[in-house]
Amino acid sequence: MSRSVRAVPAAATVLALVLTGTACEGGVHGTPGGSGLRDPYFPRAGNGGYDVDHYALTLDYTPATRRLTGTAVITARATKDLSAFDLDLSGLRVDSVGVDGRDARFNRAGQKLTVRPHDDLREGHTFRTTVRYSGVPRTLTDPDGSEEGWLPTADGALGLGEPVGSMAWFPGNDHPSDKATYDITVTVPQGLQAVSNGELASQSTHGGRTAYHWHTAEPMAGYVATVAIGHFVVTRTEGPGGLPVLTAVDPGQVRASAAVLAQLPGIVKWEEDTFGPYPFSSVGAIIARPGAAGYALETQNRPVFPGAPETGTLVHELAHQWYGDSVTPKSWRDMWLNEGFATYAQWLWQEDHGGDS
Ligand SMILES: [Zn+2]
Repeated sequence: MSRSVRAVPAAATVLALVLTGTACEGGVHGTPGGSGLRDPYFPRAGNGGYDVDHYALTLDYTPATRRLTGTAVITARATKDLSAFDLDLSGLRVDSVGVDGRDARFNRAGQKLTVRPHDDLREGHTFRTTVRYSGVPRTLTDPDGSEEGWLPTADGALGLGEPVGSMAWFPGNDHPSDKATYDITVTVPQGLQAVSNGELASQSTHGGRTAYHWHTAEPMAGYVATVAIGHFVVTRTEGPGGLPVLTAVDPGQVRASAAVLAQLPGIVKWEEDTFGPYPFSSVGAIIARPGAAGYALETQNRPVFPGAPETGTLVHELAHQWYGDSVTPKSWRDMWLNEGFATYAQWLWQEDHGGDS
């Protein structure tokens, strides 16, 4: 992230949700997985009892109504015998939940969606949870006043999630200690783009709506997952070693960002020389309209900028691909490492390019 002021939020009260196991299928006597990971800064974020391997998100969004319809298929491994488990989800309506193909009971309390599978889940079992949901996603306001979650824009929307905003647009284990691979498919009215992390696996148009399927093969923390919907000029080039570069630029920002984006492959090369091989299978940037967000964010593969960035800001967000995105803090208390290394990278860049030592 890059901004002028970032206050440390006050720790919230830990809310424990007490549940009792009921079903005992096949000799498994599970207990609830636990609500909140007791993170020192965000105690309620994340959940215990499982580890997510993969999110398959199928989203449909109409900017005119701001309505989102989603299906999340979450593949996870039980880390203990489970009678119930929690997912983070803020707002939206849950229409149904299933686990391993059977309907599951569920209830909501605050940001927690508690799921009780038909059968208890044995430790080590890999299970698949399907959540169907809909509604107008929320914009969340952080204790420092900045906005995250789902940000409607003039012609679409931005999904941004540092620190706890991904739960505004998909259910999951919203804590950086649980990274997973992602397939994010977004369907929007024909003529609009939907840009996300990873690489574009397919694109198809039917009945006046276009579906964009983005595949993220490298593990990703939920807070750096993104979706950018709107009119974008998409450009594909190559970086060092043939690394695919994909930039998506708001039409009004093409001219202002041309010079800085032309530097992107060279910045990645310089950061490889400084830090080691680039950690992901593609790179790029999303340049939204000024004011679309109050900050730039190091969303994986493709950082988001509200308007054409300064070179130093691009250096900063790309350095986060190593520090924060690839090497991710297990606790939010260590996020200073993300920001420390990304800021240090800016200073090294300046020193190597005619600035102060
Ligand atoms: Zn940063």
